[in-house]
Amino acid sequence: MPTTITAAVLREVGAPLSLESVLIDDPLDNEVLVRVERVGLCHSDLHYVHGSLSIDLPTVLGHEVAGVVDRVGAAVTRFAPGDRVVATVTPACGMCDQCLRGRPTQCQRVDIVRARPRPKHWLPNSDALGALGGVGAFAEAILVGEGSLATVDDALPFEVACLLGCCITTGVGAVVHGAGIGPNDTVAVIGCGGVGVSAIQGARIAGARRVVAIDAVPAKLEAAKRLGATDVLVASADADETVAALHALVPGGVDHAIEAVGRTATAELAFACLAPTGAATILGLMPEGSRLSLPADALVYGDRTVRGAYMGANRFLSDVAMFTDHYRAGRLDLDAMVTRVVDFGDINDGLAAMSDPDTVRIVVDMTSARA
Ligand SMILES: [Zn+2]
Ligand SMILES: [Zn+2]
Repeated sequence: MPTTITAAVLREVGAPLSLESVLIDDPLDNEVLVRVERVGLCHSDLHYVHGSLSIDLPTVLGHEVAGVVDRVGAAVTRFAPGDRVVATVTPACGMCDQCLRGRPTQCQRVDIVRARPRPKHWLPNSDALGALGGVGAFAEAILVGEGSLATVDDALPFEVACLLGCCITTGVGAVVHGAGIGPNDTVAVIGCGGVGVSAIQGARIAGARRVVAIDAVPAKLEAAKRLGATDVLVASADADETVAALHALVPGGVDHAIEAVGRTATAELAFACLAPTGAATILGLMPEGSRLSLPADALVYGDRTVRGAYMGANRFLSDVAMFTDHYRAGRLDLDAMVTRVVDFGDINDGLAAMSDPDTVRIVVDMTSARA
């Protein structure tokens, strides 16, 4: 029997999300129904609200999520009701060419992994309802394949466990799996929101010798400094000035630049920050059709690299265990990343608060609707 739940539905680009009763299906063989506890608000969600990325409507956004297993399909082997879990938007089949090369975020069979014979959830009038990334976490429950979930230790409160699903996975993952940063590296991180601050923490954990945090908003640099930046730099509207200020801190430029904003200008700035042989790792999702413009001579003569690291090129199931150990040992500060927790009923206020200068991450308490 399908379950009636409350979900925040995006019906129209630019409109507030509307809290509505929707129906969610029973888990099929390999699926798990998860009762959502906490959801982090990510700039990718905002891209769909604002229309800079497109998605079929109506839909349920939200993907940075932690919760409790409610029911499991007959073929599920790793979970039982009551298990605490965190979800990813990058499930992997484990048997395609990319998975076998150790690049599960580029799984070639992800559509097959996510496929099901009927919609996951629908409106009371039977209209189908989409789910961002096959997750759709702005809802009291999600229905995902077993491969989308990792168990999360009791040591992590749900309020911070949800961060592992996107910003920590992307930011720390980019350092560990994407860029491969080590103690002899100098790093610049451009953009100090949730993903950027996660990359700063990742670079600190990896032992980078210099970690320069760059953001146009001075208030964001305070958190960056607390969480591991060795130097901070207020970005100027003129990229040349920003690069000159970086060179004053790290003569010649950095070995690694990590872009965590999602704009072409900041991606180009990341490249401009590089020393010869340096690598720029681009994490931010950009509006559809965006193109980068790079100086070809700096690329070729300087042996520089530009690469993507979608969702931090993560290995989700083992990464969650890695993050948990670093959290427990006090090396990964998740608590300081949660700026504010809002009730589910106030999710639109939460989305608006994402642009406040001191916001690192806004988390939504999805259990508040049940009280
Ligand atoms: Zn995200
Ligand atoms: Zn695969």
